[in-house]
Amino acid sequence: MILSTDITKVKGVGPKTALQLQSANINTVEDMLNFLPRRYDDFSDVVAIEDIKAGKATIKAKCESITTKQVRRGLKITTATLVDDSGRLQAVWFNQPYRATQLKPDEDFLFSGDFEFKYNKYQLTNPSSEKVSDAPIQTDRMLPVYRHIKGLKSQTTRKILNELKPLMTMLPETLPGELIKREGLISRGDAMLGLHFPKTASDIESGRERFAFEELFQLLLASQYNRQANSQLEGWVIPFQQESVKKFVASLPFNLTNSQRLAAWEVLQDFERQTPMNRLLQGDVGAGKTVVAGLAMEQASRAGMQSALMAPTEILASQHAETLRKLLGPFGITVGLLTGSVKTQARKEILSQLATGGVDVVVGTHALIQDTIEFHKLGFVVIDEQHRFGVKQRQQLLDKSTKMPHLLAMTATPIPRSLALTVYGELDVSVLRDMPKGRKPIETHLWSPNSRTQLYDRIDQQIELGRQVYVVCSLIDDNPDNDTRSVEAEYKRLSGSVFKHRRIGLLHGRLKPDEKTEIMTRFLSGELDILVSTTVVEVGVDVPNATVMMIENADQFGLSQLHQLRGRVGRSEHQSYCYLVMTDSKRPSQRLREIEKSGDGFYLAEVDLRLRGPGEIYGKAQHGALNLQIATLADTKLIARAQSAARRFVESGLDLIQYKQLADQVHYYQRLTTLN
Ligand code: ADP
Ligand code: MG
Repeated sequence: MILSTDITKVKGVGPKTALQLQSANINTVEDMLNFLPRRYDDFSDVVAIEDIKAGKATIKAKCESITTKQVRRGLKITTATLVDDSGRLQAVWFNQPYRATQLKPDEDFLFSGDFEFKYNKYQLTNPSSEKVSDAPIQTDRMLPVYRHIKGLKSQTTRKILNELKPLMTMLPETLPGELIKREGLISRGDAMLGLHFPKTASDIESGRERFAFEELFQLLLASQYNRQANSQLEGWVIPFQQESVKKFVASLPFNLTNSQRLAAWEVLQDFERQTPMNRLLQGDVGAGKTVVAGLAMEQASRAGMQSALMAPTEILASQHAETLRKLLGPFGITVGLLTGSVKTQARKEILSQLATGGVDVVVGTHALIQDTIEFHKLGFVVIDEQHRFGVKQRQQLLDKSTKMPHLLAMTATPIPRSLALTVYGELDVSVLRDMPKGRKPIETHLWSPNSRTQLYDRIDQQIELGRQVYVVCSLIDDNPDNDTRSVEAEYKRLSGSVFKHRRIGLLHGRLKPDEKTEIMTRFLSGELDILVSTTVVEVGVDVPNATVMMIENADQFGLSQLHQLRGRVGRSEHQSYCYLVMTDSKRPSQRLREIEKSGDGFYLAEVDLRLRGPGEIYGKAQHGALNLQIATLADTKLIARAQSAARRFVESGLDLIQYKQLADQVHYYQRLTTLN
């Protein structure tokens, strides 16, 4: 029997079982081995009922009696009396009526769950149960629990794996021996055995460590190789023209911050190299990324090269076009706009100008990556809010040049370092750490929905002073089923009563693109006092005169999203305010309390990563595909270890070809994450 052996050849796998396994994508012996336990029940510590203490506990007992009651709609409570030689106790399950048939009297079961004080007495809540005679082993160990496969008893899963035990111990090693030794990892075989048949908790731990390390090592090795591959590409050389940079900087209505200077310098250094730039520009909302890109575009255009900026929304694209026209127009640089709503004639015109070089800079949305678009000489690509785009979309834009253009990816979502390493490992990073001078920190307040009137008073005072206001809701239309506010309803309510005397606009994603642009333009020019909007204003929108951000149902937003929204205000010398109105007047969540306390996007990103995990935050489109099975991106220590190991591997000149399985995985990750 080898890894590729068909699962049907394994003893105990009949046609029916095989079908069930196949439904869970288990077709070979290898698939079966990689079907790792979801969790473990700790039966290593069986206690007598009379010795039980509050907390996680496991007992070996019989079920003396069991009843199920329908308490109310959607809630069935099953209560059992469990008994061993030392005493009896009560166990309770919610919505698990099948327990009554499963727990046959006179049979010994292991129950494992939380022993806690609830509803005035001690009880074992929602314990898992395992028939003692079914447990494949003595009771003194950790019992693996597998993802449920429809129709298949977990007992059968364990039996099949038991058949494969000899194979596990002989699993071929995938990592270089020297690496394993240095990192103090256990062998692949021991890890597999330890995860499927742990004797102690530490078997599980070292098994996980081994596989997690392997995953991260492969991922990080892939980005090292991508980096190497990138350094061998030939790109456009854009010379650093000091005089014109000076003129550009002098033309700005403000002084650049130190970190803007540094970032610009790093970009211009990259421009001068033969190898194409591959750089991520990170900066909190309002840090001033656009001007850094603008400065680099000026240099590109001096060198006869076109630049393209791709933004995730039409609003943002047209605002960028506006900004860049102001920045670059005085230097004779032409800026075009290409979005879905640029229609026939205008579109034809810009397309032909792009192809002939009649336009130097183009700003657009996804519209930029269509096949029909050709550039004369595309030398520099900027992607704004880059996490909104997939790898493929960036790639499509880069492909529009005969040589690889320089790439500057910008993001306002501060990325914790561990994540930057794994997910953007092949990028160089510039960070805008300091904010432009004169910005006052935004005052943030959590607000109870019961005190809305007082809040509206405060807001009205701001409008009286000539300032403008955002009101953000998560929904477009009302949903009668819950108390989440919608922009449609809020717009009607506010313009019909509280703010009758003010000018109010409504913005959401279902409006036509030109309607959206029109509303935004009116808000920007000060024709509107209040903009009631969905999160379409989240990304990048810049209206310096707006000083109030009021967010309804704030508890329903993610931390990074709230921080992004808050960043729409505080963009001028005026004091700004962010009001987070909660759905109810219960105690606010930790998330909300964190954002009330801190205005530091990097700190909040770390908190968010801890509270929600990377998938939620950084989007499934890009990172879901990484599909890390065991490692988590929050494990910063292991990531750092794997990173130096990967670097050492590349530097040592070891040939990947020697390690076939490793090479396959690395190539897979390389294709997945590469920007080239
Ligand atoms: P973001 O990094 O969020 O994209 P923007 O590029 O939109 O930030 O800049 C936010 C605002 O700050 C803009 O109005 C811009 O003109 C202004 N700004 C940028 N750099 C500076 C600076 N060094 N000093 C003062 N204002 C600046
Ligand atoms: Mg921006």
